[in-house]
Amino acid sequence: MKKFIKTNPWKIIQKGFNKEDNEIYESLMSIGNGHMGMRGNLEEKFSGHSLKGTYIAGVYYPDKTRVGWWKNGYPEYFAKVLNSTDLIGIDLTIDGENIDLNVNAPTEFYRELDMKKGVLNRHYNLNVSGKKFKIEVSRFTSMQAIELGAIQYSITAFDQSANIIMESYLNGNVRNEDANYNDFFWEHIHTENQYITLKTKKVDFKVTSGMGNSINKRIIPLKKSEELFTSEKFEYNLDPNETLTLDKFFTVTTNRDYLEDALVEKAKENINLAIEKGYNQLLAEHTQAWKDIWINSDIQIEGDDLAQQGIRFNIFHLMQTYHGHDPRLNIGPKGFTGEKYGGSTYWDTEAYCLPFYLSTSDKKVPKNLLEYRYNHLEKAIENADKLGVDGALYPMVTMNGEECHNEWEITFEEIHRNGAIAYAIYNYINYTGEKSYLIDKGLEVLMQISRFWADRVHYSTHKEQYVMHGVTGPNEYENNINNNWYTSKIAIWTLKYTLESMAYVKSIDPNSYKQLLKKISFEEKEAEQWLDIIKNMYLGYDEERNIFLQQDGYLDKEQKLTKDIPKDELPLVKNWSWDKILRSPYIKQADVLQGIFLFEDEFTLEEMKSNFDYYEARTVHESSLSPCIYSIIAGAIGYEKTAYELYLRTSRLDLEDYNGDTEDGLHITSMAGTWMSIIYGFGKFRVKNDTIHLNPFIPKEWDAYKFKILFRENLLAISVSNNDVRIILEKGDVLPIVVADEEYTLSKKQTLII
Ligand code: BGC
Repeated sequence: MKKFIKTNPWKIIQKGFNKEDNEIYESLMSIGNGHMGMRGNLEEKFSGHSLKGTYIAGVYYPDKTRVGWWKNGYPEYFAKVLNSTDLIGIDLTIDGENIDLNVNAPTEFYRELDMKKGVLNRHYNLNVSGKKFKIEVSRFTSMQAIELGAIQYSITAFDQSANIIMESYLNGNVRNEDANYNDFFWEHIHTENQYITLKTKKVDFKVTSGMGNSINKRIIPLKKSEELFTSEKFEYNLDPNETLTLDKFFTVTTNRDYLEDALVEKAKENINLAIEKGYNQLLAEHTQAWKDIWINSDIQIEGDDLAQQGIRFNIFHLMQTYHGHDPRLNIGPKGFTGEKYGGSTYWDTEAYCLPFYLSTSDKKVPKNLLEYRYNHLEKAIENADKLGVDGALYPMVTMNGEECHNEWEITFEEIHRNGAIAYAIYNYINYTGEKSYLIDKGLEVLMQISRFWADRVHYSTHKEQYVMHGVTGPNEYENNINNNWYTSKIAIWTLKYTLESMAYVKSIDPNSYKQLLKKISFEEKEAEQWLDIIKNMYLGYDEERNIFLQQDGYLDKEQKLTKDIPKDELPLVKNWSWDKILRSPYIKQADVLQGIFLFEDEFTLEEMKSNFDYYEARTVHESSLSPCIYSIIAGAIGYEKTAYELYLRTSRLDLEDYNGDTEDGLHITSMAGTWMSIIYGFGKFRVKNDTIHLNPFIPKEWDAYKFKILFRENLLAISVSNNDVRIILEKGDVLPIVVADEEYTLSKKQTLII
């Protein structure tokens, strides 16, 4: 396997300019700050393969749907993450030669993403007509002032003088790589020196991009402004050993946050402030912000730099993708690193990301993720109605609550996503103890989702049980199946939890309960039907193998294993026809195992083992969401070596380009799964009955590992070594805890050693 980066605990390092892999490095070197982000593109011109990508949180484009055969219920549009004005461009000309790094090959090229500080640094040497230069560049998007970013760009002449031109620009002539009809998505509103304001052609997003430049020599810049382009050109005769340094500041303001009239003014304020503070102060504030983030979210691993680099890479990207301050935003599978997957929100958020933010962030962050869905409830009801089903069906992919996905087998059938949204409400309340969320918002969502399930199942007179037909489980390598165990399981779990929650709200706040029933025109007979479904739902089980059946007929498939697939045919999605994939026994991602992960306490160790053994042997993990779940279950059943191998696979998925698609962008949502592999998998962290449970093991490759957990008002620091487990209550007064089934009480700042 090709090695793209050097192993280092805090850095992602590229040595040598491998331009054929440029797009992979662009993904790996992406930076962002929750408000905006960009791929690791070069500031200079590069005419080789590249996806120049700059993305602004919450700014999307409703691209016209493209389908072969229109089906009723399809959405009218597919919301695209929108590639916006290029903020970083600095064009370099040396002695009249315009530098193109695809043509002017850099030597001694070094690039690093410093994850501790959140800075992208690079340097290289360049020979131009026999003269030698060193170029050094640093860039960051501020985690402290999120509308700002900065670049420091320097060129030093070695031993001969040269004429240098640096043209710092903003370019609004940017297209999406992911566009259904290759349309240009932007309309020009206004350009003035250093500021471009554009609007999206549909929906009314207005975005001002601005820049300010300051240079370390007395140079009057030549200014240029066209509709979609504005630049400042600095020309200078550089002496030997002299360095010319340009500090470029950039900003983005949008009408999501300000009135349209204020956009340019606000952008100017940002740039003036940046220039006043200067690059170094902005950088210091930014690195301090990262320092604060790492204090509570870092996981330290001793003795295994590969594993260490992997987890930090994952945490770093999660933290720079989503801050959780704005309930209108969510976590896109590619974050700010690419365009694939269109809309921003999948079930990934609830099933994978929520646990990460619950344990590492202030409570308002996971709560905003829940409220995002609450605010989309009406749209989910409309969505179910389009399909002719009662209740609410949340979309598979969305930006604003409307469904954007339009492949029938996913849009109409991959309905297990509704279960993840219900489960997230349980997860949040179980973790935070905030049961009042049920009264405020949670119960309404649960009841509408339950209504959907109740209408989506039907009674089979043949089986004399309820069944659910025509679904796609998490394993998308099979569609239109009947009785997907996971989907049916989470459906009846939702019904049960909803009934329990109704009873709770009725007892605690009968008035609100009554109002809610009235609001949604709920009739008691619905609850009776839900009970009947819970009692009589069909869930496939094979006694001989002691496994839950992924779906009807799964055992009739040709029983080949993943080890039988020739290496050069992997990944299947790139090498096999869809027909062959659908008929094969191969499983894209955790499906039955996803259910075992969520409802672990319902199963015996034997059941968990037999399902793991059976399904792991058939799973190709071609979704990034898969190895983490298998890793956690492997940990739970004592398969520690497998847990570790799967951990490496999940944490280094993009770093090693395991699925051959890192060039499209990174797998941001599965990064939260990587975090879970350590905390839930190795640490065996769970919250049960308002109490933290831990039962850590340590992979034999590691000397020690340490992590922190925010739990309600408490902060716990946990370290696990080959000798013992140490737990300190860093914040909080007393906290009961269960470690390896023994109960203990933690007191402030004291270390519990086990
Ligand atoms: C997976 C889905 C997931 C989506 C976005 C797909 O490949 O099969 O489960 O929601 O990617 O991450």
